[in-house]
Amino acid sequence: MKTDGRASLFEALSIVEDSLADGYHSRRALPDFAVIIESPSTGLRMEPAPANDSLEAIAAEAARCQKCRLSAGRNRVVPGLGSTRPLVMVIGEGPGAEEDKTGIPFIGPAGQLLDKMLAAIGLSRETNCFIGNIVKCRPPMNRDPAPDEQAACMPYLERQIAILKPRAFLAVGRIPAQALLGAKTGIGRLRGERHEFHGLPLVATYHPSALLRNEELKRPAWEDLKLLKSILDELDQR
Ligand code: SF4
Repeated sequence: MKTDGRASLFEALSIVEDSLADGYHSRRALPDFAVIIESPSTGLRMEPAPANDSLEAIAAEAARCQKCRLSAGRNRVVPGLGSTRPLVMVIGEGPGAEEDKTGIPFIGPAGQLLDKMLAAIGLSRETNCFIGNIVKCRPPMNRDPAPDEQAACMPYLERQIAILKPRAFLAVGRIPAQALLGAKTGIGRLRGERHEFHGLPLVATYHPSALLRNEELKRPAWEDLKLLKSILDELDQR
């Protein structure tokens, strides 16, 4: 291991130690060498980040990727986009039809609603959010991505997180909430509280397409956004 790698390891271990002692340290992102700390609940593991990794390299690899069956039906890979120094990483399930056509995450009515929701608490993909997905290729007929498809695609998301170093996560919908938290319960039970992922705060809420189908979900979704805002305000004061 190189000297700088050893220093990064000590930094990562120090963050874990601090997190165990008194919760997460929001201003201390994991160093570049570590993509993710192993989580028994999610099954995610620490992997060495490729040297000089970049969002562009990840997007280029994903565009050629055939690691799961979703590659067969895609038109465009949707690697994600937004601020390269995000406050919040917004993580959805996977591309829909419009996203598959354009390569842009969360467009169309659901995406517009997501943008409005984010704007209501001072967030936007242009300034302080990065928007990604659990899988980067569209599942046929908008079915749920299968567990093996999620697992195949997760390393791309892990690498994006390592590069972007967000300070908080917003999981939109059941699939990302379950995947990131290693949970099997529905979004109705996962939303409404502060979770942790990577030692950083994570809030789960309904997918905007669910809000478009069911107006009654808008109020709890707004409560979730207010929770995220209060967490971000708290981080700001540290
Ligand atoms: S969904 Fe992810 S793992 Fe599967 S082919 Fe697309 S980029 Fe590769």
